[in-house]
Amino acid sequence: MSRAFNFSAGPATLPEAVLRQAQAEMLEWDGAGASIVELSHRGPEFMEVARQAEADLRTLMSIPDDYAVLFLAGGATAQQALLALNFAAPGQTVDYVVTGHWGKTAIKQARPYVNVNIAADGEAGGFRDIPARADWRLSKDAAYVHYTANETIHGVEFRDIPDVDNAPLFADFSSSIASEPLDVSRFGVIYGGAQKNLGPVGVTVVIVRRDLLERAGQPRADIFSYASHAANDSMLNTPPTWNWYLAGLVFKWMLAQGGVEEFARRNARKSKLLYDTIDGSGGFYRNEIAPGVRSRMNVPFFLHDPALDAAFLKDAKAAGLISLKGHRVLGGMRASIYNTMPEEGVQALAAFMRQFQQAHG
Ligand code: PMP
Repeated sequence: MSRAFNFSAGPATLPEAVLRQAQAEMLEWDGAGASIVELSHRGPEFMEVARQAEADLRTLMSIPDDYAVLFLAGGATAQQALLALNFAAPGQTVDYVVTGHWGKTAIKQARPYVNVNIAADGEAGGFRDIPARADWRLSKDAAYVHYTANETIHGVEFRDIPDVDNAPLFADFSSSIASEPLDVSRFGVIYGGAQKNLGPVGVTVVIVRRDLLERAGQPRADIFSYASHAANDSMLNTPPTWNWYLAGLVFKWMLAQGGVEEFARRNARKSKLLYDTIDGSGGFYRNEIAPGVRSRMNVPFFLHDPALDAAFLKDAKAAGLISLKGHRVLGGMRASIYNTMPEEGVQALAAFMRQFQQAHG
């Protein structure tokens, strides 16, 4: 059996060591007489797995004590609705900065509950750049300001945390969480589905400043209340235990690899190699994102002749490089190179791209 280098945008590649450990523990976890996925979430075995995963994520991301860390089902999309329900009064104004597809979905989920002010929108420019901070039109009394730290489809990433002094900053970090050091204290809420940088799909991490949990929000069932989830250690109902366990293995692996500082260095090298390969191709490959906001995680690119796309994907697969087809919204190609993508994978892709150009240029 041979594993390819997998550039999928999510669900994405997992560390082989993690998959092997999960395989070894699949039938019986740590002398428990059963798999961890077969045991009660309230039993001592899973409680320890859950506690350790949270402790490791806190260490990995340097999360301050005045932030709650929730492990929830529902994906990032459900959180996009819950943010409005939990942190804004009915019809209250909230500010959204849109820099790609996922910023738009965030608005769609919030709109039934709040008055959305689009403070800035990069769509007119094809989402190839981030609107200058000076041009944002923030509201005076917004419940929060929301932005997407990394746009997974358009390949646009904020390289700095924006200054917004009027309201707490909420950020969708689905596709860049734990990819470099981050000052969590600048945020009200950070959230992300785990299926990109943190491991398996099916569990979503929500990091929320505790004082915000006291906001009344809107009438909602208990199951949609972050405060209730926090008060119950994310065990208000049965949590996605298998996914939580797997994410915990990924956290341990990331810490052993050197933590977010080390991943920041690797991610900088990986993305530079890929952008250099594209920019140095004399137009055979192209990426149109403004250089200062190019994503380190998702690199969309186009071949100069779309008629070559099918051959590119076929030959890449034969070379052990899979999941390079771009998102249907954009077409072309996309290489997702999260923490778990090894540098050798990106080196292999860059070498393949040069060879393919030589053969078809
Ligand atoms: N936000 C971003 C930045 C994403 O990349 C995605 C998924 N690709 C989502 C939100 C939606 O996540 P989910 O499928 O977990 O709801």
